[in-house]
This record gives sequence, structure tokens and C-alpha cells, in this order.
Amino acid sequence: MSNLLEVQDLKKYFTKTSGLLKKTEQHVKAVDNVSFTVAHGETLGLVGESGCGKSTTGRTILKLYQPTSGKIVFDGVDITNFTEKQMLPYRKKMQMIFQDPYASLNGRMTISDIIGEAIDTHKVATSAKDRDDMIANLLERVGLMKDHASRYPHEFSGGQRQRIGIARALAVNPEFIICDEPISALDVSIQAQVVNMLEEIQRKTGVGYLFIAHDLSMVKHISNRIGVMYLGQLVEIGDRDKVYSNPEHPYTKALLSAIPIPDPQSEKSKSRIVLQGDVPSPLNPPSGCHFRTRCQYCMKICKEVEPVLQTLEDNHQVACHLFS
Ligand code: SF4
Repeated sequence: MSNLLEVQDLKKYFTKTSGLLKKTEQHVKAVDNVSFTVAHGETLGLVGESGCGKSTTGRTILKLYQPTSGKIVFDGVDITNFTEKQMLPYRKKMQMIFQDPYASLNGRMTISDIIGEAIDTHKVATSAKDRDDMIANLLERVGLMKDHASRYPHEFSGGQRQRIGIARALAVNPEFIICDEPISALDVSIQAQVVNMLEEIQRKTGVGYLFIAHDLSMVKHISNRIGVMYLGQLVEIGDRDKVYSNPEHPYTKALLSAIPIPDPQSEKSKSRIVLQGDVPSPLNPPSGCHFRTRCQYCMKICKEVEPVLQTLEDNHQVACHLFS
């Protein structure tokens, strides 16, 4: 599979000013030197605790935030420094599905207008009838009825609203969708339905996904590869099965140990790694390895030298001095 998206050494720092006359500047390193690729038709799952920078990574790729440095290459074109006007054709190719399906849908607009907005912006329909037919078709594709087009978001359940968000993203036939925690706000029974629907859409259209979640159990089913982020940095990335069956980074091991096992016997005998302390502030991350303040294997070098991603085997990379 060829690369649809290449992210190289991406950084997104936010500046915080404080003190008298706001003269003191500090940088929040929300995304710090992150590199990965997503192939055509592939799903990369990106996981980590709240505030680790995964959503900021997604929004920076879409240029909703201007990157501080690094490179974003989409379909072979370097879009890093594109202006909003230059980005317009790429807004059609790259879409986003948001976590909160209620907040992301304008409550004063009908479903027809919400889905039709992108169709109008990108001039996808040839006539008013074509537009109506496209909206009806999109609603049916996501398991809703065409009659729903005249209703308002508050008339739908959370799962249905997320389906509307997906229909909106699909309206312009994107090649790539960033799914930003699309199932976190849904009931467990609805989560599987939405994941299955996203998989079916991918099989039919070949769309690539960056699937962001805070929990490894949520991305297991849908992802081909998994990336694990901690405090703005990617600490492990690899094929799904390698990361799940043979996690190497101490943080990935801790995240995996927290996933409940459906079998009560195995769940009872499993040892859980409980991380001590909270995630440090990204305003003042620890020196060396950012994870060192919570790592049971911390060595002298971990305080002094920042580990970089290194390849252990094909398609499996880890940033940890245990493997230096
Ligand atoms: Fe732990 Fe050191 Fe590896 Fe960081 S580099 S995860 S502190 S062993």
C-alpha cells in the first residue's frame, strides 16, 4: 500500500503568556516531533490518555492549527505551509468526525442543511435534485432514513447523531478521515455498530482513517496499526497484532494491562500495572524520557537523554532506553 499521509517530525507548540504585562512566555508542547504514515485504505489507531496530544495531532494534520514545524505530506503533496485558499481542494479530500456528535451538529440546522453544507461548499451536486438525492443516499448509507433529512439534531439519539456526523464527512467522498474519539461518547452497545459501519465504508470506498481513542480496547478491532502517544510524543508504533501481543514500551504495557478480559478466570489471574502519579504538565515536561516519572524501569540515562523511536523489527518501533 502506498502512503496517503506522511507526517514528519510534526510539532505544535502553544504559547502561554503570564506575569505582569504578560512578558513571561512558556510553550505547551502539545505535539512534539511526531512522525508516522497512513497508507491508502489503512486505519492507524492513535491512543493515549487525555491531554497526550492525539487530538491536536489530528487537527494540525487538517491544518485547523498551523504546525510549529515539521512536514505534512498528503497524496505526495507537501501541504504544511498551504494557505486556506490552497487547502480548499484538500478540505474535500480530508474530513473529520468529532467526538461529541451533539456539539458538532448545529442545532438550528436541519440534517439536510448540515450534510448539504459540505456538498454546497465543494460544489459536488449538479442540481437541487442531485443534492437531495445525495443526502438521501448518504443517510441510507449510514443506516438512517431519507425522511430524517428534514429533522433537527435534537430529535436523534447519540448513536444516530454520530451517524449524521459520519454522513456529513462522507458527503464529499473524502480519501482520508480523522475520527477523533468518534465512539467515546456512545453507549457500549452502539460503539460496535459505529465501528462496523466505518469498516464497511472503508471496504467500499478505500478511505484511510486516523482513528483517535483514549483506550487501546477501542481501536483494536478497527486498526491495522497502532500508535501510542504520551505527553505529545509517539512512544510506540507498530502492526496491531505486534503491539497487542508483544507491547514493548512500559507505557503501552500499562495501558494494555488495564483492558478487562471477558473471561472471569483470566481476568482474576491477570496482573495489572498501575501507573503511579498523574501525567506531568506539558508546560514543564520531565527531562530525558517524558514517561520517566511514572516508569518502574527508570535508569540514569532516562533522566538525561530523550529516547527516540527505533525499529525493533519490521513495522514495530519503540522510544525507550531499555532497547538502546
Ligand atoms: Fe522507562 Fe527509561 Fe524506557 Fe522511559 S526510557 S520508558 S523511563 S525505561
